[in-house]
Formats: sequence, structure tokens, C-alpha cells
Amino acid sequence: MKLTYQPYQLELKHPFTIAKFSRTGTPLILLKLEYEGLIGHGEASMVPYMGENLETATAFLQKVDLNAFHHPFKMDEVMAYLDSLSPGNPNIKAAIDIAFHDLTGKIEQKPCYLLFGADPDLMPVTSYTLGIDTPEIMIKKAQEAADFKVIKIKLGRDNDEEIIRAIRSVAQVPLYVDANQGWTDRQKALDKICWLHEQGVELIEQPMDRNDLDGNAWLTENSPVAIVGDEAVQRFADVEKAKGVYHGINMKLMKSAGMYEGHRMILKAKELGLKTLIGCMSETSCATLAAAALAPLCDWADLDGPFLTKNNPYQNPKFANGKYVLKEAFGLGLVSVDRFGL
Ligand code: MG
Repeated sequence: MKLTYQPYQLELKHPFTIAKFSRTGTPLILLKLEYEGLIGHGEASMVPYMGENLETATAFLQKVDLNAFHHPFKMDEVMAYLDSLSPGNPNIKAAIDIAFHDLTGKIEQKPCYLLFGADPDLMPVTSYTLGIDTPEIMIKKAQEAADFKVIKIKLGRDNDEEIIRAIRSVAQVPLYVDANQGWTDRQKALDKICWLHEQGVELIEQPMDRNDLDGNAWLTENSPVAIVGDEAVQRFADVEKAKGVYHGINMKLMKSAGMYEGHRMILKAKELGLKTLIGCMSETSCATLAAAALAPLCDWADLDGPFLTKNNPYQNPKFANGKYVLKEAFGLGLVSVDRFGL
């Protein structure tokens, strides 16, 4: 098993602003696992708030030796091994996990979604996220999102209503809202949620601080709109804690340390009666196709990563009628774009 990797700076089409910070690009590690002549691709997207960066990810990779693993790969053992090296580093662990799944699909001649029993016909529509901006620019961004059947808006500053009215002047699709923990007063938050409900908002992510269990639980009890935990739900152990606090969870491969655990989180959430949203970070087609392979198992999808970037080194995923179209290619179905030389 040969593991190679390279850093890659992903550039965003628009500076991306949410309630707590703004950025124009995201450092990635693109990783390859070579085994018996086949190559599995993986990706780590190191968004700053998760605390991982090129140095920590590279230091982790120095410790990794995968030579003990042979096909058929036991992913529970792979993940237990990776977790034994360090408790954190979910981004780079996700890259390794995704590469294992791409490789497994290629070895077994199956698309990744079939490895998880996902039915492409059950693919939910995916939302397109608009970062916080002036109402004029948000109108322009909403017009750019015409191919999408749902728009997700980042809120949490003091001009939320102005932004919603601006979007509604040009787009009538359902809206998801992400407050990114930006709301602090539960009654004011509920008043806002009720107003957002009237504006066609169907889902609200992480309204209050991830540690404010009572506040989020009170909103969930009283909200006419689905409340979804994102920052509060990172890995498998957090799913159980979300019950009674949120209507659902936002599972992202960069939090769950990859597809193996992400799949377990989706199943656990369903067992607990929680809804499931599958989300992404700023990512290329690689990590997003891995999420798309699990998306038919979820209620909602927010997999816009590759569409928000300027230099995706792979072909954009196939997309029609607001949904990902899963290909029959083996593994992730990833295709490099020649000019990036990967
Ligand atoms: Mg979120």
C-alpha cells in the first residue's frame, strides 16, 4: 500500500463569510492510495475552525503505515488504527478513509454508493450556499444559483431580514438557513424562526452555541421549522447527544473522519428518529462525490462545495434538476482535469 499526497490551495469564487469569520480559500491535502496497480483518491479540506492545518495533517501522515491492511479492507480496523494514532485530525483521517473507499470500489468494480446500499433514485436535491454579503451581492449570487432547487443562506448578523427580502426578490425556491451558532437570545431566535418560516425557510442549522443544549432544545421543541445540529455533531458519539436537542444532524465527512463513520452516524440518527442532512466543506469533487455516494440515505443534502470553487482539479460532478446524478463508474467516479496535472 503506497500513500502519497500533495497540498492544494482551493480558491473560492466569492469570499465566504459566515456569522463568525470570512475567507477566500481553503488549504487541502489531495491523497492517493496505490494498491495492486489501482489508485484510490482522497481529500482533506482543512477549514480553519476545525483546527487542522497542513502542518498537523502532514505530521499525522508521517505516523501512518497502512501496510498491514489488505483487501477486503476492514474499515472498522482501519479507523481504529487511525484513531489510535491521534484522537483528532478528522480531516486527514477522512482523506484516508475516502481513498480506501474509492480503492475498494475500483477493486470490487462497484460505484461507492453501492458499497453502502444507497439507491441513486433516492437522491435528495442539494442546496447552494450563499455566504453573508451585501443584499445587492446576495441578489447576484442568488441569480447565479438558478440551477439549484434550494438556496442555503448564512445568517447571524444584524441584517438577516434585509438579506431574506433581497433573496426573495429574485428567488422563490425553498430556503435553508445556517445561523452558525450566531443567535444568543432564545426568544428572539424563536421569533426570527417563526418569521423565517413564513418566508419559506424549511430548515435551520445550529441556531445557538453548540454548548447551549437547553437553548437549542427549547428552540427545537417550539420551532415550526426543522432545527439541525451541525457544529454540535462531529463524530459518532455526538449523534446520541443530539437526540432531544435537535430535530436532525448535519453529517459531514470532514467531521466524521470519512465515509465509514459517516455512514454509521446516518444509520444511528435514523434509529434515534433524527433527520439527516449531509453537508460538505469547501471541497473539490473528490470529497463531495464521497458524500454524494451517501446522500441518498439522507433526508436533505447540502453538497455545493465544487460549485463554489474556481480551481476544482477534477471534473464537476454530474448534476441535473437540482440533484447529483451518480455515475456507474467504479469507486467515486472521479475524473481529473488535465490542466491541473493531478
Ligand atoms: Mg452549518
